[in-house]
Amino acid sequence: MERSALNRYRLPVPKNILDKVDRTSSPVHIGKLRNAIDFIVPEHTPVFAAANGIVVYVKDDSTIGGANPIYQKYTNFITIMHANQEYSRYDHLAPRSSKVEVSQTVREGQEIARVGMTGYVLLPHLHFHVFIFTGSNVWVDFETVNVEDFTS
Ligand SMILES: [Zn+2]
Repeated sequence: MERSALNRYRLPVPKNILDKVDRTSSPVHIGKLRNAIDFIVPEHTPVFAAANGIVVYVKDDSTIGGANPIYQKYTNFITIMHANQEYSRYDHLAPRSSKVEVSQTVREGQEIARVGMTGYVLLPHLHFHVFIFTGSNVWVDFETVNVEDFTS
């Protein structure tokens, strides 16, 4: 049985700008990332913290992206730690658009960055997933959990 998120999460982008929620089109939404969600929105759309938490990772110095897997490691992203050992991650952020720093407390709905085209992207969108750690290597020891629906 697939593990579902214990916390409630709000939409990480403004509902009135959201074009489409796409869970399956991306070729990288497989394996560990099978519960990832792409929110199709224009570039520069504000990105919101999906729940209260503490910022644990910020990368926003990349300016590189495109429709090729070689760009995957150039994604700008933010990771936030929430209650119940759950973490949310936001990818393809615009260069230097981060409005938060590591160890900063954020509130649900707070703007944390803007959508960009960094990393492996075919069209502007926010890649979002909620995950738990399953071991000590933060880059590989994780599993995404299913977020069924969002508050907004
Ligand atoms: Zn994605």
